[in-house]
Amino acid sequence: MDAKKLVSTMEKLIAGFDEKLLLNISWNGKLPVTDNVEVEFNEEKIMEFLKRVNLELISLELINRKINFPGLITNFKDKGSFLKLLKDNLEEGFWEQFALKQKVKKEILALHFLILRRKMLRELSNAIQNNQSNHQTCPTCGTLPGFAAITPTGERILFCLECQTQWRYYRLGCPKCGNKFHEDFIEIHPEGKEETPYFGEVCKKCGSYLKTKKLKSNEEKINPNLEDVESLFLDYLIPKKINY
Ligand SMILES: [Zn+2]
Ligand SMILES: [Zn+2]
Repeated sequence: MDAKKLVSTMEKLIAGFDEKLLLNISWNGKLPVTDNVEVEFNEEKIMEFLKRVNLELISLELINRKINFPGLITNFKDKGSFLKLLKDNLEEGFWEQFALKQKVKKEILALHFLILRRKMLRELSNAIQNNQSNHQTCPTCGTLPGFAAITPTGERILFCLECQTQWRYYRLGCPKCGNKFHEDFIEIHPEGKEETPYFGEVCKKCGSYLKTKKLKSNEEKINPNLEDVESLFLDYLIPKKINY
């Protein structure tokens, strides 16, 4: 199973499902959104969504059997877990236990619910429209940014790979450790690949890096999850160049 195919399938599934899985979203205005939100879950739609994901993964030959979602959802609800899933704070061993009862591989179960989580987080992100600048973590779900873009006018945009919230950040600054000292940053460009719009920006202080795309116009819209896969070569190149 190649990463590109899986990610593009996930993206299609998430985009193609118009029904709202969350109902009555209310947020108290404090950050991050997932810690301060009250939502109701549309269980019927969630079930339908998971069934569709299941069938799609079967058609891609990633898995080979149907999962009993009605049983699974009841089990999931008993643990009060939809909200925990949104906050990404399921207890240690959750998937193992859950999978054992259902006799399904834990990775397969977790994959279904990862797709569900992203769909729900993106609904939340759209409903709340929070795009304040200079947050080190995602203003919606609290995850560290996974991709960045630079506009032709030099604005830097960070993206959350979980919920696709995007927000502006300092042109030079590390969202992981907060460092803003200009001399601590190096750009890593792939050699002999002049035509590629991707490069890596490394923070020497904490050693983290962000893959970055140069946009052609200020209006260009990107899907950060697809770009992340498209620029996988940088994840091999950067650690070699900076000798971790
Ligand atoms: Zn997020
Ligand atoms: Zn740093």
